Amino acid sequence: MNNIKVSLLEDKNYLDLLKNILYLFDLKKYEDIKSKIEHYNENKFTKNKLLLKDIDEITTNINFIKHYYLSIFYDFAEFLIDLKQKEFQKSWCTLQHIQDTITICYNLIQNKTDFNLDTLSDYLYKIEQLYPYVVFSSTECIVEKTCSICKNNLLDKKCTHLSGDIYNGELAGVNINIIEFLGISLVYKPAHKSCTLLPENKYDYKNFPLMSSYGMIYSFFLYSEPFFDFEILIKPKIITHSEINTYNRELLCPCRSEKPFKDCCIKKRFIFVKEKYISSINKKLIDF
Ligand SMILES: [Zn+2]
Ligand SMILES: [Zn+2]
Repeated sequence: MNNIKVSLLEDKNYLDLLKNILYLFDLKKYEDIKSKIEHYNENKFTKNKLLLKDIDEITTNINFIKHYYLSIFYDFAEFLIDLKQKEFQKSWCTLQHIQDTITICYNLIQNKTDFNLDTLSDYLYKIEQLYPYVVFSSTECIVEKTCSICKNNLLDKKCTHLSGDIYNGELAGVNINIIEFLGISLVYKPAHKSCTLLPENKYDYKNFPLMSSYGMIYSFFLYSEPFFDFEILIKPKIITHSEINTYNRELLCPCRSEKPFKDCCIKKRFIFVKEKYISSINKKLIDF
């Protein structure tokens, strides 16, 4: 079953729940958001599957979409909690997970404006730019995959399910049973962005997050409200000789090479750097 027409406006209770969730985001009550969604899902829903099946397949699938869509907000609350606890790598993985959920919602939902899918996706992509990750690791291996619904090997051609579609309230996916490891490579555009790599950072980022490579993402959510728009600008800047003289030679070079200053630009007369600026736009992005 593909591209279901679900209107949020028809289900008043659901719409009220979404409005309430957004209000709790304004108040930064992230734990409350999680319990509210857990309460709604109680006994009815596990991550990818409805526990109680409704009368017909279409109703079951529509209910599945409504539940699945809520997990975007559940995970975004989790993401903001991760950041608050300075769990930066974990917050990045949560962010990736939300983007995967949105991709699946794209496939399932016809009326994307009702669900703010484009806006959410653009917003999360901008948040990604605030992280320092550039290089990722990518594992090469031979895998044996089976369908999560009929359990047939995907090479057998017996399976007619499409990964990312819902069948009677269950999301079709791929199970990986056997992995034979071949090697690992460094890539800029990985299949799984959760495989992050970051050069050794001399700063203690748990105690001094603003001075670490995570300073931008940390400070952004310290001051910004969730779901408010912002823009990332790149501005060139020159660091002059007199400023260079004041840098501690043991610290990381301001040119962002991630090398110690003493082994990098210390002898230069000036350094050109490109600095990222965030300018906030006082406009709330999503609404129901
Ligand atoms: Zn199948
Ligand atoms: Zn340098």
